[in-house]
Amino acid sequence: MEIQAKEKINTYQVAQGRVRRAVEQLELPDDVYEWLKSPDCLVECGIPVEMDNGKIRVFTGYRAQHNNVLGPYKGGIRFHPDVDADETKALSIWMTFKCAVARVPFGGGKGAIQVNPRELSLKELERLSRQYVQALAPVLGPEKDIPAPDVNTNAQIMAWMTDEYCKIRQHNDFGVFTGKPLDMGGCVGRETATARGTFYAVREAARVKNLDLEKCTAAVQGYGNVGYYAALFLHQAGCRIVAVNDTSGGAYNPAGLDPVALKEHKNETGSVTGFPGSEKLTTAELYAMDCDIIVPAALENQITPEVARTVQARIIGEGANGPTTPEGDKVLNEKGVLTVPDILANSGGVIVSYFEWVQNNYNYYWPEAQIEDRLQRKMMEAFSHIYNYHCDCSEGTTMREAAFMYALKRLAEAMKVRGWWG
Ligand code: GLU
Repeated sequence: MEIQAKEKINTYQVAQGRVRRAVEQLELPDDVYEWLKSPDCLVECGIPVEMDNGKIRVFTGYRAQHNNVLGPYKGGIRFHPDVDADETKALSIWMTFKCAVARVPFGGGKGAIQVNPRELSLKELERLSRQYVQALAPVLGPEKDIPAPDVNTNAQIMAWMTDEYCKIRQHNDFGVFTGKPLDMGGCVGRETATARGTFYAVREAARVKNLDLEKCTAAVQGYGNVGYYAALFLHQAGCRIVAVNDTSGGAYNPAGLDPVALKEHKNETGSVTGFPGSEKLTTAELYAMDCDIIVPAALENQITPEVARTVQARIIGEGANGPTTPEGDKVLNEKGVLTVPDILANSGGVIVSYFEWVQNNYNYYWPEAQIEDRLQRKMMEAFSHIYNYHCDCSEGTTMREAAFMYALKRLAEAMKVRGWWG
C-alpha cells in the first residue's frame, strides 16, 4: 500500500479546519476565527546566495507570523525542497496553539527556505543562513519574533543566523534565536528537548492507558533529531524499539533495535536500512506494525484514513508537526487509539526554547538538572490539563480537539481582554 502523496492534502486548510472546529465547539463568535484563520504577516523573499562556483542562486524563503497575543512570535525555520507559503502558514498556526497549550508566553511563527540542504556545501549553507537573516532582520527580534531549529536546521545554523543578526544590530542580542550552541547563549538540553517532551507525553499516555512502558514495544517514523532521541528515551525506559524508518528505508527487528548503534549505522551509511540483524520495512508496514506505541517523527500528512485503518498500536505520540490528517484522526479515534497531538506531544522543544530565551534575557544560566526538571514538570502539567479537559468533553472528542479548544480558550480570552474582539 502506498501512503497518500503529500501534495494531495493542503496543510494550511487542515490547520484552518482545526481552528474553525475549535471555534465552533467552544461556540465562540466568527470574529475569533477571523483573527486566527491566517497569519498576521507573511514575508516571502528571494535569498541570493553566491555558490561555490561563483554563480548566484536565488532561493525562496518565508517567515509567517501568525499571532502574538500571548507574546512574541515563536517557531522554527525549516530547510526543505517541498516547503511553500501554505505549509509555512499552517505550521505558524500550529505554533500559536502549541505555545498556548504549553503555557509559554509566546505567539506562533514559522520560517522556511525552499532548499535541499544536502546539495549545498557548508560554506553555501552558511551564506544562505546569513542571507535569510539579512532579508528578515527588520521583522525579527527577541521581543518580536524568535526563530529556532526545525526540520534540517540545527544549532550551527542558529549560530550563523544569530551572528548575522547581532552584526546588523551592532550589539550581541542572543535572545533573538533559540536552539543556539552552548557557547553563544544556548541552553543545555535544547537539542534533546523535543524528543524528551515527546517521551514524557507518551509515558503519561501509557500511564492513563494502564500500560507498563517496560513491557511495551514501539515504532518510530523518522530518524532525525526527534526520532532518534525519542527512540533512545523510550529504549532507556525499557520499551523495545522494534521498527524505525527514514526517507531511504527502514529497519525492523522484533527482538529490539539498539537506538545508539542504529544512529551510528545511519551516520556511516546515510540510512537506517541494512542495520545488522534487521529486516527492511516500508512506512506503510511501520504504521501497520503489531506494537503498542508509534512515534511519527517525520513530516506532515502521514496518517491518512487508509494508514489509520491499519494501525494496531494503542498510543500515537506525535513528535512531528501535523503527521495525522483530519480523516486519519477520526479513524484512530473510532479505533480507541490514544493520539497525543503534536501541539502537546512535541512542545518540549519550544518549552526549552522559552527557558533559553529567559536565560538570555537575564544573562544568568541554569544547571542542566534544573532544565530537565522544569521541562518534565511543564510537560506533565500540559498533559494532565489536556487529558482532563478531554475527559470532560463530550464523547467522541479527540485529544487533539481538546488541545485546540484548551489553547483557543486562552487565546480568545487574551484577545478579548486586549479589545481585539467582543
Ligand atoms: N521547531 C520546533 C517546533 O516545531 C521548535 C520551535 C521553537 O523552539 O521555537 O516546535
